[in-house]
Parts: sequence; C-alpha cells; structure tokens
Amino acid sequence: ADIAPQTFVNTPSLWRDKIKWPQPAGHKYDRGHLLVAGGAVLTGAARLAAMAARRAGAGLVTLAAPEGTADVYRGDHPGVMVQPSIAWERLVLDRRVTAAVIGPGLGIGRGTKALVADALSADKRCVLDADALTSYADDPQALWQLGKMPVLTPHDGEFNRLFDHTGDRLTRARRAAATSGAVILLKGSDTVVAAPDGRAAISVGAPPTLASGGTGDVLSGLIGGLLAQGMDPFEAACLGAWMHVQAAQMIGPGLIAEDLIGEMASVWRRLS
Ligand code: AMP
Ligand code: MG
Repeated sequence: ADIAPQTFVNTPSLWRDKIKWPQPAGHKYDRGHLLVAGGAVLTGAARLAAMAARRAGAGLVTLAAPEGTADVYRGDHPGVMVQPSIAWERLVLDRRVTAAVIGPGLGIGRGTKALVADALSADKRCVLDADALTSYADDPQALWQLGKMPVLTPHDGEFNRLFDHTGDRLTRARRAAATSGAVILLKGSDTVVAAPDGRAAISVGAPPTLASGGTGDVLSGLIGGLLAQGMDPFEAACLGAWMHVQAAQMIGPGLIAEDLIGEMASVWRRLS
C-alpha cells in the first residue's frame, strides 16, 4: 500500500520476509542477547521491556539492576538474567551482547547519558526511549555525534524536546530521521516509523486503550528483542509497532501493558 513516494501503511508485506525465524539447529546465542538498563525507582518500565523482548524472540535478556534493586528485578521473571548496573560498561563490551534498550524508567541525567554513550561506543544496536531521549534535551546534537543510532522511540513530548516540531507527524518524523541518522518511531494513535533513507510507514488500527502506563515500554522491548536478533532497524521498528497494535486489538477493552506481553505468542502465530 504505497500512499506517497516511499510512504507505506505498516503491513506485513513491508517486513515479513525480513523476520529472523528460529532455525531448527539454532541455539540461544543465534537469537541475540539483549541488555536492558533498569532504573532505581520506576523498576516496572525496564521489566516490561525485558519481558517483551523475550516474547519478540531474543535468545537471552539481561537486566542491569541498580544497587539495592536486584531482588525487585529478579523477583518475578526467572527467565531474565540480572546483573549489577555497575557492570554496564563490561556488559556492553561483551561481544555476544547484540543490542540494548535504554531509557524506560531510568531517570534523567548524566548517569543515563553515560549508559547511552557506553552502549553506542561499543557499537551496540540501541533502542533509545523515554529518559534516554529526554536526558539529551539540552543538547540533542551530542546524541547524534555519539555514533550510529538504530532506533529512537519518542512520544510527542519526547520528540519535541529533541527535534524541530513544525509540520505534520510524517514530515517531522522523516526530518528527524534525516537529522539524526536514526530510525525514528514517533508514537501516537498513528505511529510513524521513518528511516534516514526516506522510507516511512504509518501504523493503522491502534486502539486508544494503548494510551496507558507501560505500553510504550513494551514497545521498546519488542523492538530491542528484534534488533538483538539481527533484524534491520526500520523493519524491526515496523514489526514491533505492528505486533503492539495487533496484540492491543486482540485484547480489547480492559487492556493493561502486561497483557500485551502475554498476547505476543498469538500475534506471532498470525505471521507464521
Ligand atoms: P508511551 O507514551 O511511551 O507510554 O507509549 C504509549 C503507547 O501507546 C505508544 O505505543 C503509542 O503509540 C500508543 N498510544 C498512545 N496514545 C494512543 C491513542 N490515542 N491511540 C492509540 N494508541 C496510542
Ligand atoms: Mg514511554
């Protein structure tokens, strides 16, 4: 569905043949290892992202837990590995770690900037969301200069702190992708994914029940899980956004962020 040059409706035809399906002789290391940065206060956000990444198919997920929070991070998710945040620099240098999700629940400031800088300088494929974006509001240029950035997932408020916000959402997302060199996923009822090369995809059918706490964290985790498996950033962002909408439609009214995670196996079944 080509609705303008290089502009598409976000449907499976855009990315279906780029999905990294598990292979019969594969092992967990073939499916990537994702790091998720956990915060000290809003611990739910990174936990939602980590669980979503596992549903997206990441082979391994490690949560970096700030001092004193390891029990919270470990508590409800036996399948997530927990390491101290203090080891972040070493973790991102591990060559088996393929991607990182940085931002949900992290807090704004220098500590968060340091996590971003370490991951990008180690050449990890990063999803930067929430507080990782807002931490650079004072100097967005500094973020683009850190290195190659696969995917940024701002909502309107986060977007407006970093980028020129004149024009419609499609124009804004495209311009931001060109400026930053990142794939920009601009969230909203009509989520736009724009790549630096000019491609853009618009999601349709997102129910307004998605406008509730934690749903964005699930989305960044899904995309991180797909990136960790080696999917290209534009397609990973589109697929993550599509899965998010499908899950929300299937759940219907009463949706909470946690439900989206549980619904992902059914969403995958629709694609396989
Ligand atoms: P966040 O702002 O990070 O919590 O993310 C919110 C999620 O809900 C994003 O995936 C948005 O695209 C989605 N969302 C927000 N508002 C709406 C809406 N009115 N209709 C549909 N989806 C929405
Ligand atoms: Mg958010």
